[in-house]
Amino acid sequence: MTAVMTGGCLCGAVRYEAAGEPVFSLLCHCRDCQRASGSAYNAALRMPAAGFRITRGQPKLYVKTADSGNTVSRAFCPDCGSPLFLKVSTRPDLVGIRAGTLDDPSIFRPEAHVFVNSAQP
Ligand SMILES: [Zn+2]
Ligand SMILES: [Zn+2]
Repeated sequence: MTAVMTGGCLCGAVRYEAAGEPVFSLLCHCRDCQRASGSAYNAALRMPAAGFRITRGQPKLYVKTADSGNTVSRAFCPDCGSPLFLKVSTRPDLVGIRAGTLDDPSIFRPEAHVFVNSAQP
Protein backbone atom coordinates (compact mmCIF):
# COMPACT_ATOMS: atom_id res chain seq x y z
CA MET A 1 0.00 0.00 0.00
CA THR A 2 1.70 3.18 -1.16
CA ALA A 3 -1.37 5.39 -1.59
CA VAL A 4 -1.59 8.66 0.28
CA MET A 5 -4.10 8.55 3.10
CA THR A 6 -6.12 11.66 3.83
CA GLY A 7 -8.12 12.71 6.82
CA GLY A 8 -9.29 15.60 8.92
CA CYS A 9 -11.38 16.83 11.81
CA LEU A 10 -15.14 16.85 12.22
CA CYS A 11 -15.67 20.42 10.94
CA GLY A 12 -13.13 20.19 8.11
CA ALA A 13 -10.99 23.15 9.23
CA VAL A 14 -7.91 20.93 9.61
CA ARG A 15 -6.94 18.40 6.93
CA TYR A 16 -3.86 16.22 6.62
CA GLU A 17 -2.31 13.64 4.38
CA ALA A 18 -0.01 10.75 5.20
CA ALA A 19 2.13 8.89 2.69
CA GLY A 20 3.73 5.52 3.25
CA GLU A 21 2.66 2.42 5.08
CA PRO A 22 1.49 2.26 8.69
CA VAL A 23 4.44 1.28 10.88
CA PHE A 24 2.20 0.02 13.65
CA SER A 25 -1.52 0.09 14.48
CA LEU A 26 -2.68 -0.04 18.07
CA LEU A 27 -5.39 0.50 20.61
CA CYS A 28 -4.08 2.55 23.54
CA HIS A 29 -5.86 2.16 26.87
CA CYS A 30 -3.84 4.67 28.91
CA ARG A 31 -5.77 7.15 31.05
CA ASP A 32 -4.45 10.11 29.06
CA CYS A 33 -5.84 8.64 25.84
CA GLN A 34 -9.13 7.87 27.56
CA ARG A 35 -9.44 11.49 28.66
CA ALA A 36 -8.18 13.02 25.42
CA SER A 37 -10.44 10.87 23.25
CA GLY A 38 -13.48 10.88 25.55
CA SER A 39 -13.64 7.16 24.91
CA ALA A 40 -12.50 3.89 26.44
CA TYR A 41 -9.34 3.81 24.32
CA ASN A 42 -7.59 5.49 21.42
CA ALA A 43 -7.25 3.78 18.04
CA ALA A 44 -4.09 5.00 16.34
CA LEU A 45 -1.91 4.33 13.30
CA ARG A 46 1.76 5.16 13.61
CA MET A 47 2.82 6.60 10.27
CA PRO A 48 6.22 7.85 9.05
CA ALA A 49 6.51 11.53 10.02
CA ALA A 50 8.39 12.21 6.79
CA GLY A 51 5.25 11.49 4.78
CA PHE A 52 2.87 13.41 7.01
CA ARG A 53 1.76 16.98 6.41
CA ILE A 54 -1.07 19.34 7.25
CA THR A 55 -2.89 20.37 4.07
CA ARG A 56 -5.43 22.77 5.55
CA GLY A 57 -5.75 24.80 8.73
CA GLN A 58 -3.54 24.70 11.81
CA PRO A 59 -4.18 22.27 14.65
CA LYS A 60 -3.63 23.33 18.22
CA LEU A 61 -1.15 21.34 20.30
CA TYR A 62 -1.52 20.15 23.87
CA VAL A 63 1.79 19.00 25.34
CA LYS A 64 1.90 16.71 28.38
CA THR A 65 4.48 14.51 30.04
CA ALA A 66 3.17 10.94 30.08
CA ASP A 67 3.61 8.45 32.92
CA SER A 68 6.41 6.93 30.84
CA GLY A 69 8.29 10.23 31.12
CA ASN A 70 7.94 10.93 27.40
CA THR A 71 6.59 14.25 26.21
CA VAL A 72 3.44 13.71 24.17
CA SER A 73 2.07 16.44 21.88
CA ARG A 74 -1.59 15.95 21.03
CA ALA A 75 -2.97 17.87 18.05
CA PHE A 76 -6.61 18.85 17.85
CA CYS A 77 -8.82 21.16 15.84
CA PRO A 78 -9.11 24.59 17.50
CA ASP A 79 -12.63 24.96 16.09
CA CYS A 80 -14.41 21.64 16.67
CA GLY A 81 -12.00 20.04 19.19
CA SER A 82 -11.56 16.77 17.32
CA PRO A 83 -8.36 14.96 18.38
CA LEU A 84 -6.29 14.43 15.20
CA PHE A 85 -2.85 13.00 15.87
CA LEU A 86 -0.04 12.88 18.39
CA LYS A 87 3.72 12.88 18.51
CA VAL A 88 5.94 11.33 21.18
CA SER A 89 9.25 13.01 21.99
CA THR A 90 11.25 9.79 21.82
CA ARG A 91 9.98 8.97 18.31
CA PRO A 92 10.13 12.14 16.18
CA ASP A 93 10.11 9.89 13.10
CA LEU A 94 6.51 8.81 13.78
CA VAL A 95 3.09 10.41 13.88
CA GLY A 96 0.22 8.65 15.65
CA ILE A 97 -2.88 9.38 13.60
CA ARG A 98 -6.23 8.81 15.27
CA ALA A 99 -7.89 6.18 13.14
CA GLY A 100 -11.35 7.74 13.29
CA THR A 101 -10.14 10.92 11.58
CA LEU A 102 -9.13 9.11 8.38
CA ASP A 103 -11.38 9.57 5.37
CA ASP A 104 -11.27 5.78 5.07
CA PRO A 105 -10.86 4.34 8.57
CA SER A 106 -11.54 0.83 7.24
CA ILE A 107 -7.83 0.37 6.56
CA PHE A 108 -7.20 0.33 10.32
CA ARG A 109 -6.11 -3.12 11.51
CA PRO A 110 -5.04 -2.99 15.17
CA GLU A 111 -2.02 -5.16 15.89
CA ALA A 112 -1.82 -4.66 19.65
CA HIS A 113 -3.47 -3.34 22.77
CA VAL A 114 -1.16 -1.16 24.87
CA PHE A 115 -1.43 0.09 28.47
CA VAL A 116 -3.96 -2.67 29.16
CA ASN A 117 -3.42 -2.21 32.92
CA SER A 118 -5.69 0.83 32.71
CA ALA A 119 -8.11 -0.70 30.22
CA GLN A 120 -11.78 -0.48 31.11
CA PRO A 121 -13.68 -3.73 31.78
ZN1 LIG B 1 -12.52 20.94 13.13
ZN1 LIG C 1 -2.45 6.33 25.32
